[in-house]
Amino acid sequence: MAIATVNPATGETLRTFEALTSEEIEKRLVRAEEAYREHRLTSFADRSRLLRRAAELLEEDTPEIARTMTLEMGKTVGSARAEAAKCVKAMRWYADRAESLLADEHPKQADVEDSGAARARVVYRPLGPVLAVMPWNFPLWQVIRFAAPALMAGNVGLLKHASNVPQTALYLESLFRRAGYPEGCFQTLLVGSGAIEGILRDPRVVAATLTGSEPAGRSVASVAGDEIKKTVLELGGSDPYLVLPSADVERAAKTAVTARVQNNGQSCIAAKRFIVHTEVYDVFTQRFTEAMRALRVGDPMDDTTEVGPLSSERGRSDLAELVDDAVERGAAVLCGGGRPEGYEDRGWFYAPTVLAGVDATMRVHREEAFGPVATVYRVAGLDEAVELANDTSFGLSSNVWTRDRHDIDRCVRDLEAGGVFVNGMTASHPALPFGGVKRSGYGRELAAEGIREFCNVTTVWEA
Ligand code: NAP
Repeated sequence: MAIATVNPATGETLRTFEALTSEEIEKRLVRAEEAYREHRLTSFADRSRLLRRAAELLEEDTPEIARTMTLEMGKTVGSARAEAAKCVKAMRWYADRAESLLADEHPKQADVEDSGAARARVVYRPLGPVLAVMPWNFPLWQVIRFAAPALMAGNVGLLKHASNVPQTALYLESLFRRAGYPEGCFQTLLVGSGAIEGILRDPRVVAATLTGSEPAGRSVASVAGDEIKKTVLELGGSDPYLVLPSADVERAAKTAVTARVQNNGQSCIAAKRFIVHTEVYDVFTQRFTEAMRALRVGDPMDDTTEVGPLSSERGRSDLAELVDDAVERGAAVLCGGGRPEGYEDRGWFYAPTVLAGVDATMRVHREEAFGPVATVYRVAGLDEAVELANDTSFGLSSNVWTRDRHDIDRCVRDLEAGGVFVNGMTASHPALPFGGVKRSGYGRELAAEGIREFCNVTTVWEA
């Protein structure tokens, strides 16, 4: 894939970039190692000052970097500004909290003595340069949710961003430099995915985090496994959204629209499969479909637009194939199902779509629909709802709408996912761990779990 900015709203190539040569990559690896030697010795107060400065700069830059994101990957400019604000918040959160999250831990004295020690403690030390392979869908947030904790822990970062967001990738490197981080603490590597293996096998790179698709995750994890290097994988999702008889159906239907079409439908934690109890199915499906049909699709730079284009032509054709396959096999199209009016031959738009009558023979039942396409299922009870919710290879998050405590407890016990969001939609927050099970990956980002992923959890035992 070429490293280029291509406007998804028009299909126009705006800028192309040369990939780094192997000599240039080598220079950056040297810098990363040198920077790590110094950065690991800095105090939390110093790291916190730098990260706060970066947050301040990002806040100032928001209008401009939001437009760049919209231009590169098509998210609505309002959601791009919200993404930048979320990054600022996470940077400040880690700047304030990292020291306490990584404070030494002291086991109970009775256990210490039982181990034969006079004193014992657990110390969180950094690991070194970490490679971050990141996707285009939240081009700032995915990077910051790695970089903020990693830098606070004393690691340094090497970013291989998606090839379609090079300007956002370069902005991120410049942001950290302008904030005062020494050269080498955070670097962007403009390279294609073919260069990743060599970088990951380099002994100076000690670990990797990847957010992206299952094939990309498998490829990076197998190289890292071969090199015995730690990885965190945040992969795809096909989150269920259960609506049970005692739910506030009006709110559930309204929230379902945002949960499905956020980021033009291209979010790993978007609700994708709507599993609705037969008692409330008709009313939910009617409200949801009406609202999906009413969404304003258009120019993502226009503040009144609710759904912009998909990020690439390939993204749209993949999505269209999933829908066409389902329709051929008998699914009903309640709304959408193709390119929206006025955008038949301009940009990579796809109309918000609701499919009913989906069954296990259809690809959309098993695969991730990465765009504004929802599937609605009718179920007779909670057992069937849970079984259907778990009938997927993914396990990122889940949503359940109910006022019944028993339903909630049952979902928390049985839904195979890294999150259960009750009477609301899945969203990430710096204080809450984020990640999945099954083919959605492993490891956690954010919160204490996230910052500790790339630490050497060191036992100190003194006789
Ligand atoms: P992608 O094609 O996997 O790309 C993600 C990153 O991996 C890019 O930097 C890409 O580089 C690189 N890459 C692609 N193929 C690779 C390979 N074989 N080996 C190593 N690296 C490779 O994914 P995407 O289309 O950008 O993003 C969409 C996917 O990400 C969806 O499945 C979505 O659910 C998932 N996602 C997950 C989370 C989460 O937190 N769990 C969050 C957001 C998105 P190039 O661009 O150069 O190909």
